[in-house]
Amino acid sequence: MNDAQKTQITQECSDIDNNLLDEENNDEDSNIWGRLLSINKLFPSMNLIENEYSLGRGKKSSIFLDSKEIKASKYYPTYSSTHFKIIRDTIKKFVYLQDLSSNGTYVNGEKVGKNKRHVLDNNAEIALASKTNRVYVYIDTNAIEDSTIPPNVREKYIISKEIGRGAYGEVKLCFIRGTCNRFAMKIIAKKHFTLLGAQAHSFNQQIQSECSILHGLDHPCIIRVYDVYDTPNAVYIVLELVEGGELFDRVVANGQFDEITSKFLFRQMCIGVQYLHDRSITHRDLKPENVLLTLPDTNETLVKITDFGLSRFINETTLMKTFCGTPNYLAPEVLSTRGESSYTNKVDVWSLGVILYICLVGYPPFSESTSGTPLNDQIVQGLYTFPDEFWSDISETAKDLIRKMMCTDPAKRLTIADVLKHPWLADDHENTARVNEIMYPPTMKTAKRSACDDNEDDNDNNPVTETKTTSTDGTPPDTNHTNGKRKRVKH
Ligand code: ADP
Repeated sequence: MNDAQKTQITQECSDIDNNLLDEENNDEDSNIWGRLLSINKLFPSMNLIENEYSLGRGKKSSIFLDSKEIKASKYYPTYSSTHFKIIRDTIKKFVYLQDLSSNGTYVNGEKVGKNKRHVLDNNAEIALASKTNRVYVYIDTNAIEDSTIPPNVREKYIISKEIGRGAYGEVKLCFIRGTCNRFAMKIIAKKHFTLLGAQAHSFNQQIQSECSILHGLDHPCIIRVYDVYDTPNAVYIVLELVEGGELFDRVVANGQFDEITSKFLFRQMCIGVQYLHDRSITHRDLKPENVLLTLPDTNETLVKITDFGLSRFINETTLMKTFCGTPNYLAPEVLSTRGESSYTNKVDVWSLGVILYICLVGYPPFSESTSGTPLNDQIVQGLYTFPDEFWSDISETAKDLIRKMMCTDPAKRLTIADVLKHPWLADDHENTARVNEIMYPPTMKTAKRSACDDNEDDNDNNPVTETKTTSTDGTPPDTNHTNGKRKRVKH
């Protein structure tokens, strides 16, 4: 490695100098054509100036993997002496990764293959030896930064690749400048909200007040909101990054969960919802897509409820329209009054009952296809059954709980506190202990973590110090309630 390269490496990720990430700082910056931004504490971030870089266990590698910590990591033996090279073709003007490893290099989850090349685009994610052992995000310094993102957001965060798309907009991976701390940034374009003149002002106020409520929430089963920037065109919400995907996809992948797994995940959902209800917050849009899981490869994972504030930005009529055709999780009282009356937090208990039903058997309790009765009528009348074909192996206590949660009369429906006291949950002390342990691990280090996180230290999960709702200008947004909610027909 030459001196120029050496000076570009920052050994301690947490100490990354802002200069590494700041475009304008020194003369050398003009020569930087790319950056390897570490997403694993053991790997140094690096500015790319030369036309060729290599990474590996071999001494001659530009990124030489020889730190004590990296040698102690479980993946170390799987790294090759030259695992990959990054080469800038100055004639054809593109950058590619050449895989020289025995165990593989992955670009955006795709294995490159020994001696093969893969073009590196801005925000490409590089993983070593396993798809989940992600170590770098490649940043093309010539890529044009999204100018729609306000300068005060860009000042604090490097906004990287898109990691998801939702009803209201996109979700992007982001880093706090100068650190390896990763978050998810949800960008909600206000154009998705219908213009309703005077209501626009109250809508803006609602966003502000919601954001301050969300900031105050701190529970292991609720997604943390670290930062919110409210601008006339969009709301930027910086969230805790969760990498295990949605409960929905996990149910689909598993077909269904056994009762033990269902109970383990369901107890966490109930505890999270109880935390919200104790603070007079009703989620109103509980569904398996809004339940995220922290670990990708195991069901022994922490559950994180998300989107709990956003449903409050829209009124029930809109919510109902949104669900037209797919009101699978909507409580009967919301449907029967066409969303025009007020509801209690029991609507969440109904939705959780539907989620539990789906977890246990892998199909929803109501479905247009299985009966001639319209879906809305099925829900309003509570026309669901437990056919033996699918339910014979499931305990009577589980069915009893579902009946008491999916009770069409909200007055008779259990409260979330009652749900947690129901024998199916309350009498299973082993499950309670497992849930307590995953929610409050003795130390973060002993907690089960995803492969890509197993080297990170606890600071990566620490809250961002600055949490504020930022309005870039004092004027109210010229927008109002949504009708843009994605219609997701997953079941
Ligand atoms: P919706 O509002 O339709 O439920 P979201 O906007 O919340 O969708 O999320 C869209 C996708 O973005 C999700 O499916 C998920 O893959 C990803 N995502 C959302 N929040 C996070 C997060 N905190 N961490 C990681 N990925 C996330």
